Amino acid sequence: MTCAWAPWETGPIPAPLASGPVLEVNLQAIVDNHRTLRRRFTGTAVTAVIKSDAYGLGAQPVAQALAKAGCGTFWVNDLIEALALRPAVPKATIYALQGLGVDAVEGFRAAGVIPVLAGLAEVERAAEAARHAGAALPVAIQLDTGLGRLGLPAGEVERLIAAPELTDGLDIRCWVSHLAAFDRPEDPLNDRQRALFEAWTARLPPAALSLAASACVFRGPGWHFDLARAGSAHFGVQTSARWQPGLTAAYRLTAPVLRIVELPAGRTVGYRGVGRLVRPTRVATIDLGYANGLPPAVTRGGAARIGTHAVPFVGGASMSLTMLDVTDLPEGLVQVGTRCVVFDTDAPIEPVADRLGVAPNALLTQIAGTTPKLYRATTGPVVPDRCQPDRAATAAAVSS
Ligand SMILES: *Cc1c(COP(=O)(O)O)cnc(C)c1O
Repeated sequence: MTCAWAPWETGPIPAPLASGPVLEVNLQAIVDNHRTLRRRFTGTAVTAVIKSDAYGLGAQPVAQALAKAGCGTFWVNDLIEALALRPAVPKATIYALQGLGVDAVEGFRAAGVIPVLAGLAEVERAAEAARHAGAALPVAIQLDTGLGRLGLPAGEVERLIAAPELTDGLDIRCWVSHLAAFDRPEDPLNDRQRALFEAWTARLPPAALSLAASACVFRGPGWHFDLARAGSAHFGVQTSARWQPGLTAAYRLTAPVLRIVELPAGRTVGYRGVGRLVRPTRVATIDLGYANGLPPAVTRGGAARIGTHAVPFVGGASMSLTMLDVTDLPEGLVQVGTRCVVFDTDAPIEPVADRLGVAPNALLTQIAGTTPKLYRATTGPVVPDRCQPDRAATAAAVSS
């Protein structure tokens, strides 16, 4: 069937946001990315990881947009995030990835939040509390197949296999594991983790299996299992050395020009004279700095964009101001108030993150977490669940 999609509106930034840096969040792109994931995924469901306030983009609006598109399961870090999310998606299944932590077991039950138990001690604590309450407690259990971060390591898995009564009282919804080298498909560690996950879960009580984060969805059915836990791909962030097609960046970072000035050759710009001008230069100062999550190193060799023109950074970044060399711009193109683009679909974060040697999400979470956001959404109809292509047809197409 055909679905109508309104394009991302690119109207002006409304007051009061117009006077400063803005991160526009394209909720339609997030929904489109979700549909891309569903078309590729051959398991039961693509669920959404919206931990850390949806990577900074805003857990509530993101979850609401995805829920309207038929996504009914969300993963956040902990009970605090789950409680904040709950009112936005009253009917959704919410998992807390970091397990019980120091929170009381019954707090999860009361909030209808499923903890992803992070070790055998948590399994025992949860089971004990469930038996005490006389009511089965829904949980997921994480297995540490190699990341060394959370989950039962091999020894604890063996103890659980030997004594399955340890889970009496628990309603195990899902076995979870997470790859340590998801960004490098060729890394043999991935295969070792998958083999362990399969071997262990074959000997544990039956429940849905969830290994895949975003990158695994694009690796093909052998990596899918039952539930995909996709974060990055929803936001159009590439998390694999192998290009993942069909994703649209859901963010656009822009900032207005505050001042334009002509400076002579030989002058320096920025703290400690870090930018030395080798020619007479028009310098535009923009309302954006490291307090908006822009790492100062981005400015070394980097550029923003005005219209279709690249404008190099000059003079480093300060807390809330950065300078651009706009000398080569056609006359009249840049004025006070002109918005320049730092990141968007044409200037995505991945190459910059590569250059800085950080994960793209390290950039996204810093920027999105600190910059005022404007949500853009289609005015068109709610995305019907029927837009999902026939799953059997997808599976056949993928495996053929
Ligand atoms: C963050 C996270 C995910 C989502 O990873 P993406 O690569 O962003 O899709 C999935 N599972 C766990 C356990 C995570 O911590």
